[in-house]
Amino acid sequence: MSLITGLSDRYPHLGFDDRPFAVACDDGWLGILCAFFANADKAMAAGGSFMLLQVKEKMGGLRINYATADIAPDACQAIADAHRLASVRSFHVCEICGRRGRLNNFRGLWKVVCEEHADGEFAKGVPFEGPSNPDDPYSPEADPFVAVRPTVPEFDAAPLIEGWLIEGQGESGPRPWLYGWFFGQPDISDGEHGHTSPIVQMDDMMPPRWVRTDSRLYRLGLYYPPAEREIRYWVQKLARRPVVQGKPPGGTDDMEAMLFFLRSTGRLRTMKIDRMEQAYREEQRDKEISRGR
Ligand SMILES: [Zn+2]
Repeated sequence: MSLITGLSDRYPHLGFDDRPFAVACDDGWLGILCAFFANADKAMAAGGSFMLLQVKEKMGGLRINYATADIAPDACQAIADAHRLASVRSFHVCEICGRRGRLNNFRGLWKVVCEEHADGEFAKGVPFEGPSNPDDPYSPEADPFVAVRPTVPEFDAAPLIEGWLIEGQGESGPRPWLYGWFFGQPDISDGEHGHTSPIVQMDDMMPPRWVRTDSRLYRLGLYYPPAEREIRYWVQKLARRPVVQGKPPGGTDDMEAMLFFLRSTGRLRTMKIDRMEQAYREEQRDKEISRGR
């Protein structure tokens, strides 16, 4: 698992063992884990100590081992409930990619996977057809955390947004939405720029590959950093052409050529282009620095 970093900052009331082998499941369950940590962190705000000992897959499901001390009985119960929820959710979420999944048997090994990941490199999964527990009150359809996740067929049929950008984040007011160039969306011509309805849930994998909005599910294509995206946006707008599917917005990855084009049109103020170029150069420099780390 690659994404478990900065947990102590995000969940200040929890303790984490930093050994890399403490977390041993695939990235698709990261969202389940983070929901558990958020619940546990809330419960621990009243005092006591919580130590995460181990995260692993057992018999196909998510198992979290932790130790608590000096905590109130209701906090203890809240954490136990959160753990149970994480465990039952894991049987409906692909451990590899986070889309809807089900328990499969791979030559004796159990793993929860989506239809795509059931077709493994070394073996084909056989879906578990056993009886469900009639006493189990959990229903994945009634749990929004699971229900918003796409199945593979739904994902494959969803329209695509290239060059997406989240807008309206962090403001009190409407929920955030996405801008981008749309393909396969019935209300927007292919390659046109537009925006979605408010976001219900976004894929918790990095990079995210889907988003569910009030109106529909979308697949997410390429992401460009904001300054680079702004240059691509203006090139596309001033060229008055829709984006060609499979081609980057702006038609090329040659940023110098795009900046040259913007200057040559004479339709944007030089100051605006200079500002975009400067922001782009800074973005590239930051990328170099974070890559060198
Ligand atoms: Zn999957």
